[in-house]
Amino acid sequence: MTATVLRAARPYGGDPVDLVLRDGVVAEVLPAGTGSGSVVDADGLVALPGLVDLHTHLREPGREDAETVETGTRAAALGGFTAVHAMANTDPVADTAGVVEQVWRLGREAGHCDVAPVGAVTVGLRGERLAELGAMAESAARVRVFSDDGHCVSDAVLMRRALEYVKAFDGVIAQHAQEPRLTEGAQMNEGALSGVLGLKGWPSVAEESVIARDILLTAHVGSRLHVCHVSTAGSVEILRLAKERGLAVTAEVTPHHLLLDEELAATYDAVYKVNPPLRSKADVEALRQGVADGTIDAIATDHAPHAGEDKEGEWAHALPGMLGLETALSVAQLALVDTGLLDWAGVAERLSVAPARIGRLAGQGRPLSVGEPANVVLVDPAARWTVDPAALASKSRNTPYAGRELPGRVVATFLRGRATVLDGALA
Ligand SMILES: [Zn+2]
Repeated sequence: MTATVLRAARPYGGDPVDLVLRDGVVAEVLPAGTGSGSVVDADGLVALPGLVDLHTHLREPGREDAETVETGTRAAALGGFTAVHAMANTDPVADTAGVVEQVWRLGREAGHCDVAPVGAVTVGLRGERLAELGAMAESAARVRVFSDDGHCVSDAVLMRRALEYVKAFDGVIAQHAQEPRLTEGAQMNEGALSGVLGLKGWPSVAEESVIARDILLTAHVGSRLHVCHVSTAGSVEILRLAKERGLAVTAEVTPHHLLLDEELAATYDAVYKVNPPLRSKADVEALRQGVADGTIDAIATDHAPHAGEDKEGEWAHALPGMLGLETALSVAQLALVDTGLLDWAGVAERLSVAPARIGRLAGQGRPLSVGEPANVVLVDPAARWTVDPAALASKSRNTPYAGRELPGRVVATFLRGRATVLDGALA
Protein backbone atom coordinates (compact mmCIF):
# COMPACT_ATOMS: atom_id res chain seq x y z
CA MET A 1 0.00 0.00 0.00
CA THR A 2 1.32 3.45 -0.95
CA ALA A 3 2.26 5.61 1.98
CA THR A 4 0.60 8.99 2.51
CA VAL A 5 3.01 11.64 3.73
CA LEU A 6 1.56 14.55 5.69
CA ARG A 7 4.42 16.89 4.80
CA ALA A 8 5.56 19.39 7.43
CA ALA A 9 2.55 18.83 9.67
CA ARG A 10 2.75 20.21 13.21
CA PRO A 11 1.59 17.50 15.68
CA TYR A 12 -0.31 19.21 18.53
CA GLY A 13 0.94 22.55 17.18
CA GLY A 14 4.62 21.62 17.72
CA ASP A 15 7.53 21.59 15.27
CA PRO A 16 6.93 20.40 11.69
CA VAL A 17 7.52 16.73 10.82
CA ASP A 18 6.53 14.34 8.08
CA LEU A 19 3.84 11.99 9.36
CA VAL A 20 3.91 8.87 7.20
CA LEU A 21 0.65 6.89 7.15
CA ARG A 22 0.84 3.32 5.85
CA ASP A 23 -1.33 0.21 6.30
CA GLY A 24 -3.71 2.11 8.54
CA VAL A 25 -1.14 3.21 11.10
CA VAL A 26 1.34 6.01 11.64
CA ALA A 27 4.30 4.14 10.13
CA GLU A 28 7.01 6.79 10.53
CA VAL A 29 7.57 10.23 12.01
CA LEU A 30 10.42 11.82 10.02
CA PRO A 31 12.16 15.19 9.72
CA ALA A 32 10.03 17.52 7.59
CA GLY A 33 10.63 17.06 3.86
CA THR A 34 12.20 13.59 4.04
CA GLY A 35 9.24 11.20 3.83
CA SER A 36 8.42 9.49 0.56
CA GLY A 37 5.03 8.49 -0.80
CA SER A 38 1.91 10.31 -1.87
CA VAL A 39 2.44 13.79 -0.43
CA VAL A 40 -0.24 15.91 1.22
CA ASP A 41 1.07 19.42 1.77
CA ALA A 42 0.51 20.10 5.48
CA ASP A 43 2.87 23.06 5.81
CA GLY A 44 1.61 25.24 8.65
CA LEU A 45 -1.20 22.85 9.54
CA VAL A 46 -1.77 21.50 13.04
CA ALA A 47 -2.13 17.70 13.19
CA LEU A 48 -4.37 16.22 15.87
CA PRO A 49 -5.70 12.71 16.49
CA GLY A 50 -9.06 12.33 14.71
CA LEU A 51 -11.80 13.92 16.76
CA VAL A 52 -14.28 11.76 18.68
CA ASP A 53 -17.77 12.96 19.52
CA LEU A 54 -19.53 11.54 22.56
CA HIS A 55 -22.88 13.06 21.68
CA THR A 56 -24.26 13.11 18.11
CA HIS A 57 -27.88 12.83 16.99
CA LEU A 58 -27.91 11.11 13.59
CA ARG A 59 -31.76 10.86 13.54
CA GLU A 60 -31.77 7.54 11.68
CA PRO A 61 -33.91 5.48 12.01
CA GLY A 62 -37.08 7.54 12.06
CA ARG A 63 -36.29 11.14 11.14
CA GLU A 64 -34.36 10.73 7.90
CA ASP A 65 -35.84 14.05 6.77
CA ALA A 66 -33.63 15.79 9.39
CA GLU A 67 -30.45 13.66 9.09
CA THR A 68 -29.27 10.20 8.10
CA VAL A 69 -26.25 8.19 9.16
CA GLU A 70 -24.81 9.02 5.72
CA THR A 71 -25.30 12.80 5.91
CA GLY A 72 -24.47 13.07 9.61
CA THR A 73 -21.21 11.17 9.25
CA ARG A 74 -20.28 13.28 6.21
CA ALA A 75 -20.71 16.33 8.42
CA ALA A 76 -18.62 14.59 11.08
CA ALA A 77 -15.72 13.87 8.72
CA LEU A 78 -15.80 17.47 7.44
CA GLY A 79 -15.64 18.60 11.06
CA GLY A 80 -12.51 16.49 11.65
CA PHE A 81 -14.20 13.58 13.43
CA THR A 82 -13.15 9.97 12.94
CA ALA A 83 -15.73 8.58 15.37
CA VAL A 84 -19.10 9.65 16.72
CA HIS A 85 -21.40 8.22 19.36
CA ALA A 86 -24.92 8.12 17.94
CA MET A 87 -27.56 8.99 20.51
CA ALA A 88 -30.38 6.57 21.21
CA ASN A 89 -33.43 8.82 20.86
CA THR A 90 -34.31 7.59 17.38
CA ASP A 91 -37.61 6.07 16.22
CA PRO A 92 -37.61 3.22 17.04
CA VAL A 93 -35.49 4.01 20.09
CA ALA A 94 -32.08 2.31 20.18
CA ASP A 95 -33.05 0.15 23.14
CA THR A 96 -32.39 -3.31 21.65
CA ALA A 97 -29.46 -5.15 20.08
CA GLY A 98 -31.32 -5.03 16.76
CA VAL A 99 -31.51 -1.25 16.53
CA VAL A 100 -27.96 -0.54 17.71
CA GLU A 101 -26.63 -3.10 15.22
CA GLN A 102 -28.63 -1.42 12.43
CA VAL A 103 -27.10 2.00 13.21
CA TRP A 104 -23.62 0.52 13.57
CA ARG A 105 -23.95 -1.26 10.22
CA LEU A 106 -25.19 1.90 8.46
CA GLY A 107 -22.12 3.67 9.83
CA ARG A 108 -19.81 1.01 8.44
CA GLU A 109 -21.46 1.15 5.04
CA ALA A 110 -21.23 4.96 4.89
CA GLY A 111 -17.53 4.77 5.78
CA HIS A 112 -16.99 8.44 6.65
CA CYS A 113 -16.19 7.77 10.31
CA ASP A 114 -16.74 5.11 12.95
CA VAL A 115 -20.23 5.11 14.45
CA ALA A 116 -20.55 3.88 18.03
CA PRO A 117 -24.24 3.58 18.88
CA VAL A 118 -25.37 4.69 22.32
CA GLY A 119 -27.95 2.40 23.87
CA ALA A 120 -31.01 3.66 25.72
CA VAL A 121 -30.99 3.16 29.49
CA THR A 122 -34.72 2.49 29.68
CA VAL A 123 -37.20 0.92 27.26
CA GLY A 124 -38.51 3.57 24.88
CA LEU A 125 -36.72 6.28 26.93
CA ARG A 126 -39.79 6.11 29.16
CA GLY A 127 -37.90 5.85 32.44
CA GLU A 128 -39.96 2.86 33.60
CA ARG A 129 -37.78 -0.23 33.19
CA LEU A 130 -34.23 -0.96 32.07
CA ALA A 131 -33.56 -1.71 28.40
CA GLU A 132 -31.53 -4.75 27.28
CA LEU A 133 -28.21 -3.25 28.35
CA GLY A 134 -26.34 -6.57 28.34
CA ALA A 135 -27.62 -7.62 24.91
CA MET A 136 -26.58 -4.26 23.44
CA ALA A 137 -23.15 -4.57 25.05
CA GLU A 138 -22.70 -8.05 23.58
CA SER A 139 -24.04 -7.11 20.13
CA ALA A 140 -21.84 -6.42 17.10
CA ALA A 141 -22.10 -2.72 18.04
CA ARG A 142 -20.37 -3.44 21.40
CA VAL A 143 -22.26 -0.62 23.14
CA ARG A 144 -20.48 0.87 26.14
CA VAL A 145 -22.32 4.18 26.54
CA PHE A 146 -25.96 4.19 27.61
CA SER A 147 -28.15 7.27 27.73
CA ASP A 148 -31.79 8.32 27.68
CA ASP A 149 -30.56 11.68 26.36
CA GLY A 150 -33.40 14.05 25.70
CA HIS A 151 -34.84 12.65 28.90
CA CYS A 152 -33.35 12.42 32.38
CA VAL A 153 -33.23 9.09 34.19
CA SER A 154 -34.91 10.83 37.09
CA ASP A 155 -35.96 7.76 39.10
CA ALA A 156 -33.17 7.14 41.62
CA VAL A 157 -33.84 3.40 41.84
CA LEU A 158 -33.64 2.93 38.08
CA MET A 159 -30.49 5.05 37.93
CA ARG A 160 -28.93 2.94 40.68
CA ARG A 161 -29.82 -0.30 38.87
CA ALA A 162 -28.43 0.99 35.58
CA LEU A 163 -25.16 2.00 37.24
CA GLU A 164 -24.93 -1.46 38.83
CA TYR A 165 -25.75 -3.27 35.59
CA VAL A 166 -23.09 -1.65 33.38
CA LYS A 167 -20.27 -2.53 35.78
CA ALA A 168 -20.27 -6.05 34.31
CA PHE A 169 -18.92 -4.80 30.97
CA ASP A 170 -17.24 -1.53 31.95
CA GLY A 171 -20.08 0.55 30.54
CA VAL A 172 -21.02 4.07 31.51
CA ILE A 173 -24.33 5.81 32.09
CA ALA A 174 -24.42 9.19 30.31
CA GLN A 175 -27.02 11.26 32.10
CA HIS A 176 -29.04 14.13 30.66
CA ALA A 177 -29.30 15.91 34.02
CA GLN A 178 -32.67 17.65 34.16
CA GLU A 179 -35.02 17.33 37.13
CA PRO A 180 -38.32 17.07 35.25
CA ARG A 181 -40.64 18.72 37.78
CA LEU A 182 -38.36 21.76 38.10
CA THR A 183 -38.32 22.30 34.33
CA GLU A 184 -41.93 21.78 33.30
CA GLY A 185 -42.65 24.12 30.39
CA ALA A 186 -39.12 25.58 30.53
CA GLN A 187 -38.16 27.67 27.50
CA MET A 188 -34.86 29.35 28.42
CA ASN A 189 -32.42 29.91 31.30
CA GLU A 190 -34.20 31.01 34.48
CA GLY A 191 -33.13 34.47 35.55
CA ALA A 192 -33.88 38.15 35.23
CA LEU A 193 -33.95 37.91 31.44
CA SER A 194 -36.54 35.09 31.34
CA GLY A 195 -38.78 37.33 33.44
CA VAL A 196 -38.32 40.26 31.07
CA LEU A 197 -38.95 38.12 27.98
CA GLY A 198 -41.90 36.31 29.53
CA LEU A 199 -40.45 32.86 28.81
CA LYS A 200 -40.65 30.13 31.47
CA GLY A 201 -37.27 29.53 33.11
CA TRP A 202 -35.09 26.37 33.30
CA PRO A 203 -33.30 26.83 36.64
CA SER A 204 -29.66 25.82 37.14
CA VAL A 205 -30.62 23.81 40.20
CA ALA A 206 -32.61 21.38 38.03
CA GLU A 207 -29.31 20.29 36.46
CA GLU A 208 -27.13 20.59 39.54
CA SER A 209 -29.43 18.60 41.84
CA VAL A 210 -29.45 15.61 39.47
CA ILE A 211 -25.66 15.73 38.99
CA ALA A 212 -25.14 15.81 42.76
CA ARG A 213 -27.54 12.91 43.31
CA ASP A 214 -25.97 10.84 40.53
CA ILE A 215 -22.47 11.42 41.84
CA LEU A 216 -23.57 10.10 45.24
CA LEU A 217 -25.28 7.10 43.63
CA THR A 218 -22.19 6.39 41.52
CA ALA A 219 -19.95 6.52 44.57
CA HIS A 220 -22.32 4.23 46.46
CA VAL A 221 -22.47 1.68 43.64
CA GLY A 222 -18.82 1.97 42.55
CA SER A 223 -19.70 2.50 38.92
CA ARG A 224 -19.04 4.97 36.10
CA LEU A 225 -21.08 8.13 35.42
CA HIS A 226 -20.79 10.57 32.54
CA VAL A 227 -22.65 13.88 32.66
CA CYS A 228 -23.93 15.15 29.31
CA HIS A 229 -23.82 18.81 28.26
CA VAL A 230 -22.96 20.50 31.56
CA SER A 231 -24.23 24.07 31.39
CA THR A 232 -23.91 25.88 34.73
CA ALA A 233 -21.18 27.23 36.99
CA GLY A 234 -22.69 25.27 39.89
CA SER A 235 -22.39 22.01 37.96
CA VAL A 236 -18.69 22.69 37.37
CA GLU A 237 -18.24 23.27 41.10
CA ILE A 238 -19.98 19.98 42.01
CA LEU A 239 -17.89 18.07 39.46
CA ARG A 240 -14.74 19.65 40.84
CA LEU A 241 -15.57 18.34 44.32
CA ALA A 242 -16.33 14.86 42.94
CA LYS A 243 -13.00 14.75 41.13
CA GLU A 244 -11.14 15.87 44.23
CA ARG A 245 -12.66 12.78 45.88
CA GLY A 246 -11.36 10.62 43.03
CA LEU A 247 -14.79 9.42 41.87
CA ALA A 248 -15.25 7.85 38.41
CA VAL A 249 -17.28 10.77 37.09
CA THR A 250 -16.67 12.45 33.74
CA ALA A 251 -18.42 15.34 32.04
CA GLU A 252 -18.80 17.04 28.69
CA VAL A 253 -19.70 20.54 27.56
CA THR A 254 -20.98 21.56 24.14
CA PRO A 255 -19.20 24.10 21.93
CA HIS A 256 -22.28 26.34 21.98
CA HIS A 257 -22.33 26.51 25.77
CA LEU A 258 -18.69 27.66 25.60
CA LEU A 259 -19.50 30.55 23.25
CA LEU A 260 -23.14 31.64 23.25
CA ASP A 261 -25.25 32.99 26.11
CA GLU A 262 -28.87 33.50 27.11
CA GLU A 263 -29.09 37.01 25.66
CA LEU A 264 -29.65 35.40 22.24
CA ALA A 265 -33.09 34.30 23.49
CA ALA A 266 -34.11 37.97 23.22
CA THR A 267 -34.10 37.54 19.42
CA TYR A 268 -36.92 34.97 19.80
CA ASP A 269 -35.11 33.16 16.94
CA ALA A 270 -35.64 29.48 17.73
CA VAL A 271 -32.26 28.56 16.24
CA TYR A 272 -30.92 29.55 19.69
CA LYS A 273 -33.35 27.28 21.54
CA VAL A 274 -31.44 24.34 22.96
CA ASN A 275 -31.67 21.96 25.90
CA PRO A 276 -30.06 22.66 28.34
CA PRO A 277 -30.61 26.32 27.47
CA LEU A 278 -27.89 28.87 26.76
CA ARG A 279 -26.91 30.23 30.18
CA SER A 280 -25.49 33.45 31.61
CA LYS A 281 -22.13 34.99 30.72
CA ALA A 282 -20.82 33.94 34.15
CA ASP A 283 -21.79 30.33 33.41
CA VAL A 284 -19.99 30.48 30.04
CA GLU A 285 -16.85 31.72 31.79
CA ALA A 286 -17.05 28.99 34.46
CA LEU A 287 -17.49 26.32 31.76
CA ARG A 288 -14.40 27.58 29.92
CA GLN A 289 -12.41 27.46 33.13
CA GLY A 290 -13.76 23.96 33.80
CA VAL A 291 -12.49 22.76 30.44
CA ALA A 292 -9.15 24.46 30.94
CA ASP A 293 -8.50 22.89 34.35
CA GLY A 294 -9.79 19.44 33.37
CA THR A 295 -12.91 19.44 35.55
CA ILE A 296 -14.81 19.03 32.29
CA ASP A 297 -13.19 16.12 30.47
CA ALA A 298 -14.61 16.44 26.98
CA ILE A 299 -16.18 18.75 24.45
CA ALA A 300 -19.14 17.02 22.77
CA THR A 301 -21.24 18.56 20.03
CA ASP A 302 -24.83 17.52 20.90
CA HIS A 303 -25.26 17.88 17.11
CA ALA A 304 -29.07 18.03 16.89
CA PRO A 305 -30.34 18.46 13.34
CA HIS A 306 -33.99 19.47 12.91
CA ALA A 307 -36.05 19.75 9.75
CA GLY A 308 -37.24 23.26 8.87
CA GLU A 309 -40.80 22.92 10.09
CA ASP A 310 -39.62 21.82 13.54
CA LYS A 311 -37.37 24.84 13.99
CA GLU A 312 -39.15 27.66 12.21
CA GLY A 313 -41.99 29.66 13.71
CA GLU A 314 -42.63 30.38 17.35
CA TRP A 315 -39.96 29.88 20.00
CA ALA A 316 -42.35 28.04 22.31
CA HIS A 317 -43.24 25.40 19.71
CA ALA A 318 -39.80 24.86 18.15
CA LEU A 319 -37.81 21.75 19.06
CA PRO A 320 -34.60 22.41 21.03
CA GLY A 321 -31.21 21.70 19.46
CA MET A 322 -28.60 23.00 17.02
CA LEU A 323 -26.07 21.62 14.54
CA GLY A 324 -22.54 21.20 15.85
CA LEU A 325 -20.30 18.77 13.98
CA GLU A 326 -18.92 21.06 11.27
CA THR A 327 -18.26 24.01 13.57
CA ALA A 328 -17.05 22.30 16.77
CA LEU A 329 -13.33 22.67 16.21
CA SER A 330 -13.63 26.29 15.10
CA VAL A 331 -15.71 27.18 18.13
CA ALA A 332 -13.24 25.39 20.41
CA GLN A 333 -10.41 27.39 18.84
CA LEU A 334 -12.32 30.65 19.25
CA ALA A 335 -13.42 30.04 22.85
CA LEU A 336 -10.37 28.23 24.22
CA VAL A 337 -7.26 28.39 22.03
CA ASP A 338 -7.47 32.00 20.84
CA THR A 339 -8.23 33.05 24.45
CA GLY A 340 -5.10 31.28 25.72
CA LEU A 341 -7.03 28.83 27.93
CA LEU A 342 -6.00 25.70 26.04
CA ASP A 343 -3.16 24.69 23.72
CA TRP A 344 -3.57 22.24 20.82
CA ALA A 345 -2.55 19.30 23.01
CA GLY A 346 -5.39 20.33 25.31
CA VAL A 347 -7.79 20.43 22.37
CA ALA A 348 -6.68 16.92 21.38
CA GLU A 349 -7.30 15.73 24.93
CA ARG A 350 -10.81 17.23 25.17
CA LEU A 351 -12.00 16.47 21.62
CA SER A 352 -10.34 13.12 20.98
CA VAL A 353 -8.44 11.37 23.77
CA ALA A 354 -10.94 11.82 26.61
CA PRO A 355 -14.10 11.08 24.61
CA ALA A 356 -12.52 7.90 23.19
CA ARG A 357 -11.49 6.84 26.69
CA ILE A 358 -14.92 7.55 28.17
CA GLY A 359 -16.62 5.65 25.32
CA ARG A 360 -14.02 2.81 25.47
CA LEU A 361 -13.16 3.12 21.77
CA ALA A 362 -9.81 1.35 21.74
CA GLY A 363 -8.69 2.42 18.24
CA GLN A 364 -9.54 6.12 18.62
CA GLY A 365 -8.07 9.02 20.56
CA ARG A 366 -4.57 7.57 20.31
CA PRO A 367 -1.28 9.52 20.21
CA LEU A 368 0.23 10.62 16.89
CA SER A 369 3.14 8.23 17.21
CA VAL A 370 4.60 5.27 15.35
CA GLY A 371 2.42 2.18 15.37
CA GLU A 372 -0.76 3.99 16.39
CA PRO A 373 -3.93 3.99 14.26
CA ALA A 374 -3.68 6.63 11.51
CA ASN A 375 -6.71 8.65 12.58
CA VAL A 376 -5.59 12.21 11.96
CA VAL A 377 -7.12 15.62 11.36
CA LEU A 378 -5.20 18.51 9.78
CA VAL A 379 -6.33 21.97 10.85
CA ASP A 380 -5.39 25.37 9.49
CA PRO A 381 -5.57 27.59 12.59
CA ALA A 382 -4.87 30.75 10.57
CA ALA A 383 -7.81 30.26 8.19
CA ARG A 384 -11.10 32.05 8.71
CA TRP A 385 -14.42 31.09 7.16
CA THR A 386 -17.97 32.32 7.15
CA VAL A 387 -20.61 29.76 8.03
CA ASP A 388 -23.08 29.28 5.17
CA PRO A 389 -25.91 26.95 6.26
CA ALA A 390 -26.60 25.97 2.65
CA ALA A 391 -23.01 24.71 2.29
CA LEU A 392 -23.13 22.36 5.29
CA ALA A 393 -23.19 18.59 4.73
CA SER A 394 -25.90 18.06 7.31
CA LYS A 395 -29.40 17.59 5.96
CA SER A 396 -30.64 20.28 8.36
CA ARG A 397 -29.80 23.97 8.50
CA ASN A 398 -30.24 24.90 12.17
CA THR A 399 -26.78 26.33 12.84
CA PRO A 400 -26.56 29.24 15.28
CA TYR A 401 -23.50 30.54 13.40
CA ALA A 402 -25.06 31.39 10.03
CA GLY A 403 -23.17 34.32 8.50
CA ARG A 404 -20.68 34.34 11.37
CA GLU A 405 -16.93 34.27 10.70
CA LEU A 406 -15.08 31.56 12.62
CA PRO A 407 -11.36 30.82 12.94
CA GLY A 408 -9.71 27.55 11.99
CA ARG A 409 -10.57 25.20 9.17
CA VAL A 410 -10.44 21.43 8.89
CA VAL A 411 -8.31 20.79 5.82
CA ALA A 412 -8.10 16.99 5.85
CA THR A 413 -9.28 14.00 7.86
CA PHE A 414 -7.83 10.49 7.73
CA LEU A 415 -9.61 7.37 9.01
CA ARG A 416 -7.10 4.54 9.51
CA GLY A 417 -4.87 6.12 6.87
CA ARG A 418 -7.60 6.66 4.27
CA ALA A 419 -8.56 10.27 3.49
CA THR A 420 -12.22 11.00 4.22
CA VAL A 421 -11.67 14.74 3.68
CA LEU A 422 -9.04 16.47 1.51
CA ASP A 423 -8.70 20.21 0.78
CA GLY A 424 -11.72 20.85 2.98
CA ALA A 425 -14.05 18.65 0.89
CA LEU A 426 -15.15 15.02 1.10
CA ALA A 427 -12.46 12.82 -0.43
ZN1 LIG B 1 -29.48 16.02 26.26
